[in-house]
Amino acid sequence: MLGTLTRYLRFMGYDTTSANGLLEGDKKEDTVLLAIARQEHRLLLTKDAELARRGDASALLVRSDDVMEQVQQLIDRHHIKRRLTMSRCSLCNTELREANTCEIENTANAPKDWRDLSFFWCRHCEKLYWNGSHGKQLEQRVERELRE
Ligand SMILES: [Zn+2]
Repeated sequence: MLGTLTRYLRFMGYDTTSANGLLEGDKKEDTVLLAIARQEHRLLLTKDAELARRGDASALLVRSDDVMEQVQQLIDRHHIKRRLTMSRCSLCNTELREANTCEIENTANAPKDWRDLSFFWCRHCEKLYWNGSHGKQLEQRVERELRE
């Protein structure tokens, strides 16, 4: 349910795990999620008020359905800072490293003009990122729509 928020948090540099696909349909899923959150010192973000209540300090009830309002709630509660780092893969959470020439040249949709661009690589997904793809649009949204 919070897939978009997950991607935003990764673009903001935060180590973010998604519960999607974890033990689906398991009655004990909530208990498992809370245990993982506590073990890994993670904050469990949920739309489920009952789960948030059970999680106490380990969980946070996400109130809005709008992703920018969700991010704002986390900023207001001092869980995150208003910044974009583009330092993690939005798909798998792996930390990105600088891409090499070979990786850029072998990516079909990569821009041909490299001036003013920085390229990053997810070694897990073998996916190329560059500022200007998601970067510019996201930067503008963060500037326009989020408060410190
Ligand atoms: Zn990845």
